[in-house]
Amino acid sequence: MNTRFTLPQSAIPTRWYNLLSDLPEPLPPPLHPGTRQPVGLQDMTAIFPENLVMQEMSADRWIEIPEPVRDIYALWRPTPLLRATRLEQKLQTPAHIYYKYEGVSPAGSHKPNTAVAQAYYNKVAGTKRLATETGAGQWGSSLALACQLFGLECRVYMVRVSFDQKPYRKFMMQSWGASVYPSPSDQTDYGRKLLKEDPDCPDSLGIAISEAIEDTVKSKNTKYSLGSVLNHVCLHQTVIGQEAIQQMEQAAEEPDIVIGCVGGGSNFAGMAFPFIRRKIVEKKPYRIVAVEPSVCASLTKGELRYDFGDTAQMTPLLCMHTLGHDFIPPRIHAGGLRYHGMAPLVSHVYKLGLIDAVAYPQSKVFEAALLFAQTEGIIPAPEPSHAVRAVIDEAIQAREENRKKVILFNLCGHGMLDLASYEAYRAGDLKDD
Ligand SMILES: *Cc1c(COP(=O)(O)O)cnc(C)c1O
Repeated sequence: MNTRFTLPQSAIPTRWYNLLSDLPEPLPPPLHPGTRQPVGLQDMTAIFPENLVMQEMSADRWIEIPEPVRDIYALWRPTPLLRATRLEQKLQTPAHIYYKYEGVSPAGSHKPNTAVAQAYYNKVAGTKRLATETGAGQWGSSLALACQLFGLECRVYMVRVSFDQKPYRKFMMQSWGASVYPSPSDQTDYGRKLLKEDPDCPDSLGIAISEAIEDTVKSKNTKYSLGSVLNHVCLHQTVIGQEAIQQMEQAAEEPDIVIGCVGGGSNFAGMAFPFIRRKIVEKKPYRIVAVEPSVCASLTKGELRYDFGDTAQMTPLLCMHTLGHDFIPPRIHAGGLRYHGMAPLVSHVYKLGLIDAVAYPQSKVFEAALLFAQTEGIIPAPEPSHAVRAVIDEAIQAREENRKKVILFNLCGHGMLDLASYEAYRAGDLKDD
């Protein structure tokens, strides 16, 4: 039986899919915090290049992927789709489980899909230097790689808990030529203020974003780059779902359920949006599920309202599911899911009932991740391990109901640099808050 579905290089998508074009109800626009009017091009070009701002606001259904971006995608794309037959057997489930594996990129996650595109558009626009934040280090390492490939300088503000506990991602970023600072840092006014008030002050993605934006507006030839949340980031990730659709056709199956983990929402969007298009346009009955950590559950516990994307209130107001811009999530091991908000597009399709959401505590998540590693071999990153938990629960339910169902999920990164988290779990040191 064929269990591994690959595509030739020529099958790398030539266009990104823009869900904005097919929404049954328009997305509420980002607002200027002062005037509460929709932000203009001018507001946005203070931190982003104009070509990316245009993309952020575009309602074109398909957006051409530039040739230099596709050339770099070809280093690891198309990524494989696999059927998890050993996990199915272990669970004794009639469900068929498929996963799209984004861990084959040089940085080990889906994030280079947008990092490469953003570095390219900045290069074309004349940017010399990019500033950004990173949680667990996956975004920082992806942008460091992309900047290296396009000859841009890269400055990364890394959430301190990861800077200290996950030094290998820092070493990756430095190997690709980036400079990395623990956030809160002594490099910005905001960081210095926080450190002065409390040298042991809490850290968060929201704080690191504020530092990166401050760096951008105060430095020459510098733009800011965000690894999730925004429309253009979700857009760039849609190569995942487009490839998966081709590969499910190879497997001669249609998913009943599509699952992905959500931090800011981009890997989920990348897998789900092309399927949501079919749900809207072709009335396909897919159930599409976003999985989040229960201690930072913006969809299932947050509220849908306008909020800032960062702690220092420097970003435009985004209409999104949020726990509040000053919410400091507990230091769970899935650092990439420690974000107070959710992509406006993902929040919107949740409101429209096009997707569902569930939340899990990290002990249940690591239990599932180990079962996956022991049956399928790949050690998943803690973030997609949330998706693995939901997949296993769906498969167990299929067994109990004795009903075949086809489950597809996005295994958006490997956990080879997160092994300390696995060790903490095995040693029984991993607590649920
Ligand atoms: C960054 C990251 C996430 C969370 O970000 P999203 O934008 O929600 O995808 C999840 N998984 C991995 C492997 C990541 O690197």
